[in-house]
Amino acid sequence: MRRKLAAGNWKMNGTADALSELVELAKHVNPSDAETLICPPAPLLYLACEKLRGTAIAIGAQDCHIEASGAYTGDISAPMVADTGATYVILGHSERRDAHAETSADIAAKTRAAWGAGLTAIICIGESGADREADKTLDIIAAQLAGSVPDNASGENTVIAYEPIWAIGTGKTPTLDQIVEVHDFIRARLNDRFGQETGDTIRLLYGGSVKPDNAAEIFTAENVDGALVGGASLKAADFAPIIKALSQA
Ligand code: PEP
Repeated sequence: MRRKLAAGNWKMNGTADALSELVELAKHVNPSDAETLICPPAPLLYLACEKLRGTAIAIGAQDCHIEASGAYTGDISAPMVADTGATYVILGHSERRDAHAETSADIAAKTRAAWGAGLTAIICIGESGADREADKTLDIIAAQLAGSVPDNASGENTVIAYEPIWAIGTGKTPTLDQIVEVHDFIRARLNDRFGQETGDTIRLLYGGSVKPDNAAEIFTAENVDGALVGGASLKAADFAPIIKALSQA
């Protein structure tokens, strides 16, 4: 059984006062609900972990460097993330692949660094609108999976987030059939590569304009084990119903 996971990506939003939303969210999340994770900006990691200690909400980072330390001004390493109390890190988000020119090889290296620090990596993959128009979605997904997910991936150390770039922050979502097609494809690829015993344990999240009013339908798909949520994770009033919908799926 894969435990469902609702993960929120705050991106570059929020200062310390925004943590009141986390405290409010914690009032609505029980240990028996879907696993719940918030990935705030790096300066808030430590404080977020402090505020959420003893609650059912875990904390993750949005990126990490491949090295543990060194002359990399402005970067944060996986051991530094772990030192805050965070347990997850998002890697290869399309905004980083795009704005920071991160390649799948970079993301595989970051994933190994994350594992080395005891973090679970949430590896993001997804096609652009042009890729989908050109009917290249599954080719792109196959290439990103092969390049970004290192050997030794397992359900313990890795989560995959399928995030069509054209659906992120746009209010557009794929049809349920399109989501099912890609998630089933990812599951089959993972099973081919790692064997079914391992492939079946790796959780697959859907991300891209998940909102309280579309979450329940998306969560009906067998290989959708949860969501990576951007905008709707910023407010407890929006994220709590998504977590509930997932918990009841
Ligand atoms: C994201 O940033 O990963 C994301 C899915 O954003 P949104 O939910 O706002 O589309």
